[in-house]
Amino acid sequence: MSDHHVVDITIIGAGPVGLAAAYYAGHRDASVRIVESLGQLGGQVAAVYPEKHVYDVAGHPKIQGQALVDLCIEQGLQFGAEVFLAQEVKDLQRVSGNGEEHLILTTHQGESFPTRMLIVTAGHGAFEPRKLEIEDIDEWEGRGLHYFVRRKEVFRDKTCVIVGGGDSALDWTLGLQDTAKLPITLVHRRDRFRALETSVKEARELEEQGAVRICNPAEVRGVRGDGDMEAVTLEDTTTGETFEVECDALITLLGFHSHLGSIADWGLELHGKRQIQVDPPTMETSLPAVYAAGDVAGYEGKITLISVGFGEAAIAANQAVAKIRGEKVQPKYSTD
Ligand SMILES: Cc1cc2nc3c(=O)[nH]c(=O)nc-3n(C[C@H](O)[C@H](O)[C@H](O)COP(=O)(O)OP(=O)(O)OC[C@H]3O[C@@H](n4cnc5c(N)ncnc54)[C@H](O)[C@@H]3O)c2cc1C
Repeated sequence: MSDHHVVDITIIGAGPVGLAAAYYAGHRDASVRIVESLGQLGGQVAAVYPEKHVYDVAGHPKIQGQALVDLCIEQGLQFGAEVFLAQEVKDLQRVSGNGEEHLILTTHQGESFPTRMLIVTAGHGAFEPRKLEIEDIDEWEGRGLHYFVRRKEVFRDKTCVIVGGGDSALDWTLGLQDTAKLPITLVHRRDRFRALETSVKEARELEEQGAVRICNPAEVRGVRGDGDMEAVTLEDTTTGETFEVECDALITLLGFHSHLGSIADWGLELHGKRQIQVDPPTMETSLPAVYAAGDVAGYEGKITLISVGFGEAAIAANQAVAKIRGEKVQPKYSTD
């Protein structure tokens, strides 16, 4: 038995591409439901880089990540799509009844959602941050350990230790200069950074001015605090020397583990390990009534950019609507 009524199109994942698919499906007068595993809308943009600027989305010469997401939400939900947050889709079943075949999605949280068509816009899948290999590190979550910089104000006047060697670590070492208590300590386990050379150069210049302290090659060996975090122990891995650094906020920017999870077990043809193979002219997957768009959709020559995903969302939604109605696929202009 299903908890919910059948809708025309269900969208898995409320990133920018899922929201664009919701717009196109709603614009074509389809009933739409979005199911999202995170507790918020906006996918990677909202979760990973809400305060960064994006320059390559057509029509927006420069826009902050969260502002872009807010516009996608306003546009995507305007036709009344139902939204279910904190629901990670696990299983897909195909059922027949009343002369109609439809799909039923069930979530890890126990809800089930029937739908005529499915558009998977699950990005890299439900993602989880990579964590430091320190015993009981999770216990510091909410007490000074952060995996994202969502809002800079959280770090106002805090002593910050940033861990990582990629762009995010360098970007926030520079980006929190006007917010955190200086110097910001940057810890990386290797002697070379992977981040953009200009960011590394800027961080080295700030180090000379005393605004950044760079520890590399070094690793975090322990965390101390009574209630909230107070200090971390670092090891200089060249000399083996350990030392303590004052720390209110330990920001580990080590990337994400992401996997398609159970979506990969539905019998869909995959493109590599992380994407669902689609037919680009239609964005159809190998399963009937299942489409994919955005980062999760793979084909030869695919580039994973928001603008590309927006185009794919329009194709997938128009195809799904045409399939439900038995019509020829045609674009309908939105102008009035
Ligand atoms: C640091 C960084 C900077 C970037 N900068 C740019 C840029 O400048 N320009 C650009 O074009 N692109 C940029 N990108 C890439 C861009 O963010 C992605 O291409 C875009 O977010 C893809 O959108 P999407 O909707 O396909 O997937 P996502 O944004 O990944 O959203 C997918 C959503 O699906 C949800 N989901 C996954 N599995 C399930 C499940 N089983 N059940 C329910 N929900 C699920 C996830 O929680 C997530 O919210 C950047 C990415 C990063 C990490």
